[in-house]
Order: sequence, then C-alpha cells, then structure tokens
Amino acid sequence: MRFEGQTAVVTGAGRGIGHAIAVRLANEGARIASVSRTSDNAEKTAAEINSKRADSARAYAVDVGDHAAVQKIGESILRDFGRVDILVNNAGITRDAFSVRMSPTDWDAVLNTNLKGAFNFVQAVQRAMTRQRNGRIINISSIIGIIGNAGQTNYAASKAGLIGFTKSLARELASRNITVNAIAPGYVATDMTSALTEDVQKFLQEKIPLKRVAQPEEIAAAVAFLASAEASYITGQVLCVDGGIVM
Ligand code: NDP
Repeated sequence: MRFEGQTAVVTGAGRGIGHAIAVRLANEGARIASVSRTSDNAEKTAAEINSKRADSARAYAVDVGDHAAVQKIGESILRDFGRVDILVNNAGITRDAFSVRMSPTDWDAVLNTNLKGAFNFVQAVQRAMTRQRNGRIINISSIIGIIGNAGQTNYAASKAGLIGFTKSLARELASRNITVNAIAPGYVATDMTSALTEDVQKFLQEKIPLKRVAQPEEIAAAVAFLASAEASYITGQVLCVDGGIVM
C-alpha cells in the first residue's frame, strides 16, 4: 500500500492505459480522481475502484484542452479530496494524416488535448502540491515523440512537446520537492492501437525486440514506480516502456 493517504488525479482514466493506471494506484491505496472526456467512462472506472474500497474514487468529466473548465475541475478535486499528491497526464488522442493533407482542425485537436491538456492540469494542481512541499507529476508521452512517425506530425509534435514541458517543469518545481517525469510507451494494446490493421500490427511486432505489444498494466507499473517514494531522486527523465524499440 505505497500510496495510502494519497490522492492521485489520472486523466483519460476511462479507458486503456489511464484505466490501468487508476486501478493500479488505487490497488496500492491511493484515492483516485478519475478524469475522462465522457462522464460514462469516468464513472465506470470510479465505480470499479469503489466496488473494492468504498468512497475511494470520484469521477470528473472534462475536456482536458479547456483551460477554464480544467481549473474548475481542479478546484472540485481539491474540495472533494483535500489534497493532490500525484498527477498523471495521460489523456490523449490521434488524428493521423500525412502533413500535406492534415487539416488545421486535426492539428489543433491533438496539440490541445495531448500537450495543452497537461499544462492545464498542472496549473490546476501545482499550487496545492507546492503548499504540500511534495508531489509527483507523470506525463504520458510516446516513443513517437522521440523517433517520429510518418503520418503523425501532430501527434509526434505533441508528445515531443510533452518531453520539453516535463524537463522545464522539473527544473521549476524541484525546489518544492515535486518531481516531474515522462513515460514514453511503445505500442500498447488499447482502443488507440486496435484501429491498426492486422498487417501493420504484425509489422510492428516484428520491429519490437520483445516481439509483442505491451499490456496497459505494464505502463501502469512504471507509473506506480515513478509515483512512489522509491523514485524520490528521479526527476526530468523520460522512461521508455516500449519492449526495447528505443535504445
Ligand atoms: P485510449 O484511446 O484507449 O483512451 C484515451 C483516454 O483519453 C480515454 O479515457 C478518453 O476519454 C481520454 N480523452 C481523450 N481525449 C480527451 C479529452 N479531450 N479530455 C479528457 N479526456 C480525454 O488511449 P490509450 O489508453 O491508448 O492512450 C493513453 C495515453 O497513452 C495517450 O496519451 C496516448 O497518446 C499514450 N500512448 C498510447 C500508446 C498506445 O500504443 N496505446 C503508445 C504511446 C503513448 P473517454 O474514455 O471519456 O473517451
């Protein structure tokens, strides 16, 4: 129970990797603010956690890209839980197209959700963490932000942006005993990747040294490590959890 007495905010907790992160942190004692775009999915995750430990999770529906709405959600979370110890910026989308055909709308949607969404939530909780003189911020980037990918200029820019954001924020908040790190997953079995054709999935698996895609729980395990006391001297880092693609 490494997170007993702590509160974790997990964005995109309704499905996929975010769901696995919320469940993992809850299983280790954290109370969870389950944030998703849709209230249905946010509620589903909170209900699953509450079924194991009553009143330990609450659901919040918000578009992470909406700065004003996120500040209000942050206030609600602080009112409901009294503190925030861990923030996991996980909500993310893809809108793939080659750059020549990419619409400005798809560019903005990806940057707003994946990059500005993280900034918005950091602004919503950072004062509380600063007052506590303790905090863990974990941003879910991607190996695509490191190695790039044709057809994903918007996504790669957002995920590379998150890495720069992570390192700068780590420098800003270090004196307050708040660590800021990023995780760069490789290919993970979620709704996001199930859209890939079988051929593409086979091709990807052959390029992965461990010869398989990750399960969401394997990303959640890395988040739990970075959120834990054992990671107290790690900040400004990017941890690739990718079966060996980037090395
Ligand atoms: P999914 O598509 O399975 O789930 C995305 C989650 O983000 C959902 O809960 C969704 O909410 C939420 N979300 C999306 N847009 C918004 C928004 N504007 N406001 C609030 N919540 C939002 O994605 P994954 O679990 O696969 O991915 C999670 C993160 O991991 C993303 O940042 C992704 O880029 C990253 N990643 C994923 C990889 C993979 O292979 N799957 C690889 C590398 C990185 P709702 O459920 O309510 O719709």
